[in-house]
Amino acid sequence: MNNRLITIAIDGFSSCGKSTMAKELARRIGYIYIDSGAMYRAVTLYCLDNNLIENGEVHRNALAAAMDNIAITFMTNPSTGRQETYLNGVCVEQEIRSMRVSQSVSLVSQIDFVREALVAQQRALGQAKGIVMDGRDIGTAVFPDAELKIYVTASARVRAERRAAEMNDADIYAIERNIIMRDEMDMTRQISPLRKADDAIELDNSHMTIDEQNAWLEARYNETLERLNKQ
Ligand code: C5P
Repeated sequence: MNNRLITIAIDGFSSCGKSTMAKELARRIGYIYIDSGAMYRAVTLYCLDNNLIENGEVHRNALAAAMDNIAITFMTNPSTGRQETYLNGVCVEQEIRSMRVSQSVSLVSQIDFVREALVAQQRALGQAKGIVMDGRDIGTAVFPDAELKIYVTASARVRAERRAAEMNDADIYAIERNIIMRDEMDMTRQISPLRKADDAIELDNSHMTIDEQNAWLEARYNETLERLNKQ
């Protein structure tokens, strides 16, 4: 039964190429792809645009009251074939990747009611399986029963270089500082910190090309199906 649908969870550090490999695998095997980081970024953009973050602090009560007014959806752009993130019906795909959002997202993602709301949406999206989702807590908290879990790492410098190339941004040092700060906040927060699930397969892709990591992931997917088919 090769068409058996499974859940694939890809977690790891910021900018380590999770989404590149997750998207490509989803495309090849016809699965839905969800970038859970984009959801935390969209809530952060909402906070920034509505003055809910001041002096490095989130106005928790105001955000809690606003949560029901924040609708995050994904749509595929027909001309590029790429999935884009929408906040209350407006495409925010570019804006959520800006440094302004990157600098505040780990503040917003540590808030309990933000995580509860987004995790509930993520589970609903994955209810029918046939999904590849990337993030920080997908294999540990969102889909602890995922049939295939990957934990990706790469050195901070390699990750900063990749993100700088993606953003056409020359300030690689600012990007590296942001990556290190988010790693630290994501690993030490109280709720669902970034950590490798016990049953996740670790991949350090510091010295891998995109083609190599795509092939590696597809091999893990095929192995998982073989294993499940034997059970
Ligand atoms: O993956 P990306 O770098 O776009 O994620 C942005 C931020 O969103 C992370 O630094 C983290 O704080 C938060 N995040 C999270 N849980 C997820 C995905 C992202 O807390 N599942």
